[in-house]
Amino acid sequence: MKKKILVTGGTGYIGSHTIVDLQQHGFEVICIDNFSRSHPRILNGIAAVSGMPVQHINIDLCDAEATRAFFKANTDIDGVIHFAAYKSVPESVAHPQRYYHNNIESLLNLLDGIAANGIPNLVFSSSCSVYGNIASLPVTEDTPLPKPESPYAATKQMGEQILRDFCVANPQQVIALRYFNPVGAHPAGHIGELPIEKPNNLVPIVTQTAIGLQEKMYVWGGDYATRDGSCIRDYIHVCDVAHAHTLALNYLLDKRNAASYEIFNLGIGEGVSVLEAIHSFEKVSGVKLNYEIGPRRAGDVEAVYADNSRARQLLGWTPQYNLDDMMRTAWVWQVGLTK
Ligand code: NAD
Repeated sequence: MKKKILVTGGTGYIGSHTIVDLQQHGFEVICIDNFSRSHPRILNGIAAVSGMPVQHINIDLCDAEATRAFFKANTDIDGVIHFAAYKSVPESVAHPQRYYHNNIESLLNLLDGIAANGIPNLVFSSSCSVYGNIASLPVTEDTPLPKPESPYAATKQMGEQILRDFCVANPQQVIALRYFNPVGAHPAGHIGELPIEKPNNLVPIVTQTAIGLQEKMYVWGGDYATRDGSCIRDYIHVCDVAHAHTLALNYLLDKRNAASYEIFNLGIGEGVSVLEAIHSFEKVSGVKLNYEIGPRRAGDVEAVYADNSRARQLLGWTPQYNLDDMMRTAWVWQVGLTK
C-alpha cells in the first residue's frame, strides 16, 4: 500500500513541486493550504504534471480547532512535510506579529496533531536565513546560529528549537531542511513560482522585468568584495529541493537516521553572483534585461553558500540542474503565465 504523506503549504512554490515528486515516487499525498499565499489553479498544474489528482483540504493551520478536526478524521498518515509559512523578510520586519502568529502557531497546532495521531515522521522547511551574516564559507549545519536578522529568520530559528525540544519529549523523527535560494520551475511548465504580490526574490524580479511587468530592476550593491561586486548566493533548482524531501522521508521511513532530530543544508554548494545569474538569464532567454546597479540594501549579506556534503552523503542527494537550467525553466514558466 502507498505511504500517505500530508504536505502543508502544498499549493505554494516548493510544496507544489514536492507533491509532484512524491507522487512520481509512489507516495499518496494529502495537501493542506489556505491559499493565503498561493492560487488554487496550482492544483490543476500539479495534476497536469504528475497525471494524478491531489486531495486538498482548505484549512488555516493557525485554527487549532480545524487542525485538530483534520487529524481526528485522518489517522492513516505516515509522514508530514510542513511548508506552510509566510516567507518575506521585509514583510516580517514591517509586520512581526503576523509572522510570529502564522509561522509559530501553525507549527504548534501541527505538532499537537502529529503527537495525538502518533505520526512518526516530519520534515520541516527551514532556511539559510537562520545563518544570518556568516563569516566562514561554505556554511555547514554545525555553524552556531547568530541572533536572527529579521522576524522571519527568528521564526525559522524558533521553529527549529521547538522541533529539537519536541523530539526530546516525543517519539517522532524530524528533519529540518535549510534551503538556500530555490529558483526555477518544473520543466513541464505547469507549476512554478506565482508571487501573489510584488516579488522580493531575484529570479521572479528578473523574469517579470524581462516580460515587461516591471519596467526596470536594480542590482542592490555593486561594490561588495566579491568577484564582480554583486552579492553571492547559492541558487538551487526547485525540483532538486523538492526531490530532497522525498529522499528525506525515505531516510526516515527506512530508519537510517542516527538522531531523532537532524538538519541538512540544501544548496548547490557554489556561490553565484547576482550579475552572473542575470547574464545566465540573458543568455538562455535571449532577452536583454533592463537593470541598473543600485545602492546596497539594508540587511543583505555579502556572500552565502552551502556545504551540502551531509545531504549528498546521508540522503543520497545529487542536484541535477545547473544555473542555465534554473533560468531557462523560470523563463518558460513566466512566458506561459502571460500567454
Ligand atoms: P509559498 O508562499 O509559495 O508557499 C507557502 C504556502 O503556505 C502558501 O501556499 C500559503 O498559502 C500556505 N500557508 C501559509 N500559511 C498558512 C497557514 N497558516 N495555513 C495553511 N496554509 C498556509 O512559499 P515557498 O517558497 O513554497 O516556501 C515554503 C517554505 O519554505 C516556507 O516555510 C518558507 O519559509 C521556506 N523557505 C522558502 C524559501 C524560498 O526562497 N522560497 C527559502 C527558504 C525557506
